[in-house]
Amino acid sequence: MKRIGAHVSIAGGVENAPLNAKEIGAKAFALFTKNQRQWKAKPLTKENIILFKENCNKYEFLPKHILPHDGYLINLGHPEKAGLERSRTAFLDEMQRCEQLGLLYMNFHPGSHLGKISEEKCLKTIAESINIALDKTNKVKAVIENTAGQGNNVGYNFEHIALIIKHVENKDRVGVCLDTCHTFAAGYDLRTKKTFDATFKKFNKIIGLKYLKGIHLNDSKRELDSRIDRHESIGKGEIGLDVFKFIVNDKRFEEIPLILETPNSEIWKDEIKLLYNLVK
Ligand SMILES: [Zn+2]
Ligand SMILES: [Zn+2]
Repeated sequence: MKRIGAHVSIAGGVENAPLNAKEIGAKAFALFTKNQRQWKAKPLTKENIILFKENCNKYEFLPKHILPHDGYLINLGHPEKAGLERSRTAFLDEMQRCEQLGLLYMNFHPGSHLGKISEEKCLKTIAESINIALDKTNKVKAVIENTAGQGNNVGYNFEHIALIIKHVENKDRVGVCLDTCHTFAAGYDLRTKKTFDATFKKFNKIIGLKYLKGIHLNDSKRELDSRIDRHESIGKGEIGLDVFKFIVNDKRFEEIPLILETPNSEIWKDEIKLLYNLVK
């Protein structure tokens, strides 16, 4: 079945995420495991961990349906030593928190060259950062999200992601999350069956569909190839409803988390219902 959900709040503790997901009719969810705008966070307590697992069990969310996301400050491709070290430390902490919660994935934005190094150097630095984190953890997979290519961000084309994966030593522990808004903003059209198929054919050829561990379902406020990351509610933006119809009816996306990050959380419940109603 299709596992549609949203990036839910952890206010009051990570253990509330599965409850918040259940409340909106989600069959998958994403979460931060700490405040996403701060470097440091209190370690998860035993109680947090036990309750999180209990609630996931109770509401039937399996680890493969949960796509944790790292904080916004981390830049694994940072051009400067201090900034890079700080990011690598924080990233490892995020990976370890996921392992403590019994989760399989950690979704992150690859990084930014800040105009100081080449894209290629930045991408190789990201791969090295992933290698370091994988070395110090056991199971959790590093799931690279494609970007809109805003500012100095790398990871906006499939070749970038393929290059990172190429330099990751343990390929069993790396995955990809495709964001529909970012994909469209980066210039890959998704609006018709023909362009949708062509985009995923390209993804399969350049990266490989076996790496796809999740999809972020967002419409886009901005036009094709705008290179600007502005999410819009489903069907209300420049991409339109059809792409979501294609996704929820595509056998290749069974059982992977399909996560809303649309701007109005008040209507997530309705958006999830709308998406399930598109399944033929
Ligand atoms: Zn996203
Ligand atoms: Zn985005």
